Amino acid sequence: MATEQHWPSVVVPTPAHSSLADCLTYTSPDALAPGTLVRVPLGKRDLLGVVWECPTQPPADLACEQARAVSSVLSGISPLNAEWRELVLFAAQYYQRALGEVALAALPPQLRDLQPDQWQRRLKKAAKPAQAEADLPNEDTTAPALSTEQVAALAALATATQPVLLFGSTGSGKTEVYLQAAHKVLAADPLAQVLVMVPEINLTPQLQQRFTHRFARLYGAAAVVALHSGMTPAQRLTSWLAAHTGAARIVLGTRMAVLASLPHLRLIVVDEEHDPSYKSQDGARHSARDLAVYRARLVTRHGANCQVVLGSATPSLESWHAATAGRYLRLDMASRVGGGALPALRLLNMAQQPKGTVLAPALLAALIERAQRGEQALLLLNRRGYAPVLACHACGWKSQCPSCSAFRVFHKIDRTLRCHHCGLTERVPRACPECGNLDIAPVGKGTEQLEEQVTALLSGQQRPDGQPLRVARMDADSTRTKGSLEAQLERMHSGEVDVLVGTQMVAKGHDFRRITLVAALNADAALFASDYRAPERMFSLLMQAGGRAGRDAALSSGAELWVQTWHPTHSLFTALKKHDFPAFAAQQLEEREAAQLPPFVYQALLRAEARTQEAAQAFLAAAREAARALEGAEHLTLFPPVPMAMQRVANVERAQMLLESTSRPALQHVLTHWHTALTACRALPEAKGLIRWAIDVDPLAI
Ligand code: ADP
Ligand code: ZN
Ligand code: ZN
Repeated sequence: MATEQHWPSVVVPTPAHSSLADCLTYTSPDALAPGTLVRVPLGKRDLLGVVWECPTQPPADLACEQARAVSSVLSGISPLNAEWRELVLFAAQYYQRALGEVALAALPPQLRDLQPDQWQRRLKKAAKPAQAEADLPNEDTTAPALSTEQVAALAALATATQPVLLFGSTGSGKTEVYLQAAHKVLAADPLAQVLVMVPEINLTPQLQQRFTHRFARLYGAAAVVALHSGMTPAQRLTSWLAAHTGAARIVLGTRMAVLASLPHLRLIVVDEEHDPSYKSQDGARHSARDLAVYRARLVTRHGANCQVVLGSATPSLESWHAATAGRYLRLDMASRVGGGALPALRLLNMAQQPKGTVLAPALLAALIERAQRGEQALLLLNRRGYAPVLACHACGWKSQCPSCSAFRVFHKIDRTLRCHHCGLTERVPRACPECGNLDIAPVGKGTEQLEEQVTALLSGQQRPDGQPLRVARMDADSTRTKGSLEAQLERMHSGEVDVLVGTQMVAKGHDFRRITLVAALNADAALFASDYRAPERMFSLLMQAGGRAGRDAALSSGAELWVQTWHPTHSLFTALKKHDFPAFAAQQLEEREAAQLPPFVYQALLRAEARTQEAAQAFLAAAREAARALEGAEHLTLFPPVPMAMQRVANVERAQMLLESTSRPALQHVLTHWHTALTACRALPEAKGLIRWAIDVDPLAI
C-alpha cells in the first residue's frame, strides 16, 4: 500500500509572458490548505510559492514522474485566506498579468528571500510585543466635536451600502471623518481591521501620527502600522505580518497596501482618490483605488460587511461619474472646519505684464506684504532644475539627450546636464560642443532658477523680526537624501521659511498653517495639452495648492491663489474662481461624452519597446491583426500603432496601440484571449529586436 500523496498546485513567480502555466503541480506527503506558503524547486532555484489547490489526484494531463516535491512549508503562519486569493486572481486577470507575478509581488520581498531558519527567528521576534506602554504618545487623544457636515457624513456612511465618495473641500475635516469612521468599525468588532491609503509615501508619517495619537491608548501603539515602499524590507515584513495575523488593526499605506493580507478588513479609505499615483506605472499597472472598491465588494460577498470611502476635494471624473450615475453615494462637506474661507483666485494676465516677467509686479508686492506680516507663501513651478534646455544661439545646438527624445536639464548647483528620463548626467560643457561658442545659455525656467530669482527680488526685505526674508526650494532634487524632506517640512512648519518655491510635490496634503498665498506660475501648459486628462489634473492641482492657503481661519480672510496665465478667460479658471468643482466636472464630462473618452469608454494600451521603432510597430501591427480575428473584436475599436509621446528612452524605441470599447466585458474578453497570439507575434521576423511588451488596462496617459 503506497503512502498517501497530495498534488498541490502552487503559484510561483513565473517570468512575464512565459509559456509556464500560472500554477505548477508539485507533490507533498501532507495535505496543504489553499493559501499555505511553501518553498518549491523550479529549475535550479528554490522559490516561495502559494498553494492554490491541493487535490489528492494528479491532474489528468500530468506525467507523474514530472512533479517534484514541495521543499518546505513556511510554518507558524496561517494560510492566505480565500478573499485574498480571489482578490489577487481578479487583479491578475483584469490587468492581464500572470497570477504568480501578482500574487508574489503582493507579498513582502523578505518573505521570498528568508531561509527556513531565518524565518523561524523572524517569527519569534514578531511574536514579542512591539512597543512598551511608556512609548505611547502623551498628546491629547480625544476627538474634537464634529461639525454639522461631519456628523451628517458619518451618519450617512454608517448606513451606506455602496462605495462612498466623500467630496469635501480641503480643510473640511475629511481625515477626522476617516478617524471616526475607523473608530466606529474598530469598536464594534474586536477583530476588525481598517485600511487607509494615501497617494504619497511623504504623507504617511503625518497620517500615522494622527492615527497613532487617536488609537494607541485604545488598542496599543502596535495596532497602527504603515506599509509603503520607503520602508526597509524588515520593516515591511513586520507590518505585513502584523496585518496578516490581525495584530494590526489599522494599516496606513500607499497603493501597494491594497493587496496586503487583511483577514478582518471592514473599512477601506482611499484619501485623495483622484491622485494618479494610485495607478502603478510598472508591473501589473493596477489601480489601487479601483481594486479597493473591488475588494470591499468581495469581502461583503464573502459575508462580512466592508465599506469603502473615496475622499477628495477634486474627485476623479471616473468616481464623479459613478456617483452621478448612482453607483457611488456622494457625501458633501463644502465648508472648512472653523469657517476658514477658501482662497480667492486672482488671475494675472501675462499679456499685460512687462516683457520677460518672472513674477508679475502685483504678485511680488503681495509676497513682500505678506512676508512682512509674518505669513508664508508658496510658489509653484512644475519643472525642476535650473533650466529645461541649454542652447547655443550661434549654431542652434541644444542639450539633447543622446539616448532619449528629450532635452537634458541644466542643474546649476553642480553644473551638470541631467536627463530626467534615463539619468545620463554630464558636466556642463565650457563651450558649445558643435561650434565652440563660449556663450551657451539656459532657455526656460526651473525651480532652481526661480529660487535664485525670487531670492534676488526679495533681497533687502525684512520679516517682522527684522531678519531678511528666507526663500527655500522643495522638489525631487532637494529632497533626494534621506531625512531631507522631513527637515524641509519642519523648517516650513516652524516658520523659518517665508517663501517656498517648489514643484507639485509641495501642493499635496501638507497642513501648513501660516500659508496665506499660493501662486502657480506656469499653469497654461495643461490648458491646451493633447492629454485629455491634463485639465482635470491642473484643476485638482490648483485646488489642492490653493487648499494649502488659509488653513488657519484667523489668517484665512485674505488667503489668495494667484495664477499667472496668458488665457485668463479660460473656462477652467471660471470654475476655479467659484471653487465650483461640480461645474468643472460637468463641463469636462460633457466634453468627454461628446468625444467618447473615458469614463464613457474603456481603454487598454498595448505597449512595445524595441531596438527600432519599426520592430515595435511591426509587433503592434501584427498584434492588431490578431486581435481583429478574436471573438468579440467587433465591439472594439483597434487603433493603429503609433510612436509614444516619449518615443525613445535610454536608446529604446517605444510605440503603442490603443484598444477601446463601450463595453468593459467585451474589452476584457478580447484581452484575455489575445495572449497566445501576442506570444506568437513576438516570434515574427519583422518583430526582431522587440525587447518587451505589456498591456496597460485603464491607462491614465495615452
Ligand atoms: P481635510 O482632510 O478635509 O483636508 P482635516 O481632516 O485634515 O481636513 O482637517 C483640517 C484641520 O481641521 C485639521 O487640523 C483637523 O485637526 C481640524 N479639524 C477637523 N475636524 C475638526 C473638528 N470637528 N473640530 C475642530 N477641528 C477639526
Ligand atoms: Zn554652437
Ligand atoms: Zn536620456
